[in-house]
Amino acid sequence: MPHFAAGVVRFQNEVYPEKRELFEKLSLGQSPEALFITCSDSRIETAMITQTEPGELFICRNAGNIVPPHSNQTGAMTASIEFAVAALKVPHIVICGHTECGAMKGAMNTEGLSALPHVKEWLGFSRAAVEIVQETGGALNETEQMEMLLEQNVILQLQHLKTHPAVAVRIAKGELKLHGWVYDIKTGAVNAYDEEQNKFIPVDQRYAAEMAMLATDGGCAT
Ligand SMILES: [Zn+2]
Repeated sequence: MPHFAAGVVRFQNEVYPEKRELFEKLSLGQSPEALFITCSDSRIETAMITQTEPGELFICRNAGNIVPPHSNQTGAMTASIEFAVAALKVPHIVICGHTECGAMKGAMNTEGLSALPHVKEWLGFSRAAVEIVQETGGALNETEQMEMLLEQNVILQLQHLKTHPAVAVRIAKGELKLHGWVYDIKTGAVNAYDEEQNKFIPVDQRYAAEMAMLATDGGCAT
């Protein structure tokens, strides 16, 4: 029995009974707080990293946490983004890249991808980020270049998101916020893009104002 199948049995016997109420409530509908776009990499566990329960994140995953720019061709990402933003009306979209990303390593070295034609074509959606690193990151070592690519790729995919009509409309109405993150597999660190400073900073600093407001609200309520 595969480990993951044995896990289902354990879930049904041990986990589900404890959360029965939550699952029954979720059967009536969903109202997620965010569309969470991240890499398919097996080392990313979204619920664990964000400490969220079922129903809180609408998740899209693909190699390289890529969002193709909007076009008239329908793809899985386009349809999922449209559904999350226009139907579910999520108030936030997070694009979360990560360290040790095989897709981003491939994007830096597309000659090594001749046996993976679809991967190679898909990574074309990260080409602008790769070229920024190649043109401006010459003085950096390999590790620093990869760090820069992870961040530039997240910024590029945030730009692509804005080309999707449903996203553009809800941003214009002030109903939707975009977030760019990079998760460090080894340390658990999450850095978030700060548009004002144009750099990635630790998530607790990036959301310090919001966290302080939450603390104040909590104080008022009690
Ligand atoms: Zn990855």
